[in-house]
Amino acid sequence: MPTEPNEVTSTPDTVAVRAGRRASGTSLAPALWASSTWQSADLDDAHRRAISTRHDAFYSRYSNPTVRSFEEAVAELEGADDALAAASGMGALASVVFALCSAGDHIVAQRQLYAGTLAFLQGPCRRLGIDVTFVDVAEPGVFSAAVEPGRTMLVVAESPSNPRLELADLDELGSIRGPFTLVDSTFATPLGQQPLRHGVDLVVHSATKGIAGHNDATLGVVAGDRELLDEIWGYAVLHGATPSPFDALNALRGLRTLGVRTRHQADAARSLAVALADHPTVHTVWYPGLSEHPQHGLAMKQMTSFGTVLAFEVGDRDAVSALFDRLQLARVATSLGGPETLVCHPATSTHAGLTADEQRRTGVTDGLVRVSVGLEDPHDVVTDIERALEA
Ligand SMILES: *Cc1c(COP(=O)(O)O)cnc(C)c1O
Repeated sequence: MPTEPNEVTSTPDTVAVRAGRRASGTSLAPALWASSTWQSADLDDAHRRAISTRHDAFYSRYSNPTVRSFEEAVAELEGADDALAAASGMGALASVVFALCSAGDHIVAQRQLYAGTLAFLQGPCRRLGIDVTFVDVAEPGVFSAAVEPGRTMLVVAESPSNPRLELADLDELGSIRGPFTLVDSTFATPLGQQPLRHGVDLVVHSATKGIAGHNDATLGVVAGDRELLDEIWGYAVLHGATPSPFDALNALRGLRTLGVRTRHQADAARSLAVALADHPTVHTVWYPGLSEHPQHGLAMKQMTSFGTVLAFEVGDRDAVSALFDRLQLARVATSLGGPETLVCHPATSTHAGLTADEQRRTGVTDGLVRVSVGLEDPHDVVTDIERALEA
């Protein structure tokens, strides 16, 4: 059922509860359309479905009603025309890049990126003749300075960045003319910031993280202008990183509680950041909601919630290892945005594939710990990590 935006239905928490219900009839829970294929009435009907753009009752690699509901919900939350889901965050990113860029084209990307995105731009993209220039995100004006008019097709940013929570200036990205601009907004969730409202062309999420929010779905999504997404779909349908309707179902269920989850987890992340900033064995804390964060002013300007992830430094790898051994509540695992508080050591896990020089340049030191703050009692989370640091 489409929802007309008005004063009582257009606030983000409310949209998250109401959006994406078109394929569910009067059922309040999302309907799961598991089918991979649909029956046509006759030859003309079959032809019509086959040549339609994103027909959601033809073949599920093309589209699927449960997936479509999820896409419509994300589009509404991002203030976008439309959205397109993929089998994972990487599936969404790869589909966008390969749909828009060809051999000889140029991409400008920030250096401080999710390691998978970095590896994708450095490996497959360069191997296929797509040239990539990396810039340091926190320096004002770097993205536009690196754009080569006529050759740069895409500008790729991630804000806040993984793992050190550096921010890209969304207004600056939105003012770039010529190439398409893309922001990976996974760490912010659609409730923390809306890059499209700053003039950015495409926003990407690993919905595996905060959007689905329960560690039970692997899913990605890109939102933006419908015509551009239709073009990306034309490639994505061949690329085949097709989202599972089961994952879209779990993500739709997760979206219903995005408001309360994000708020609780972001508040707890802030409490933890404040406690760690005062802790004698912690060197530095990275959280955009802390006034000490070098880009706190920018965070205040473009974010409505500072996210559920923070990072901090404790000496060296041995100190991290000892800390992890003493934790009783937080678990050692990658991923973020789920109910359980997770800690990870980027240097040996998420960013293990980088060379020492790349680790240094992306701020991944031996003593860096990333925390995804979960839904446990915030006091328990803070106490667990403080105790493990003190022991
Ligand atoms: C996890 C993550 C990705 C990749 O998403 P997958 O769903 O694992 O493919 C991309 N960007 C960021 C910022 C992430 O945290």
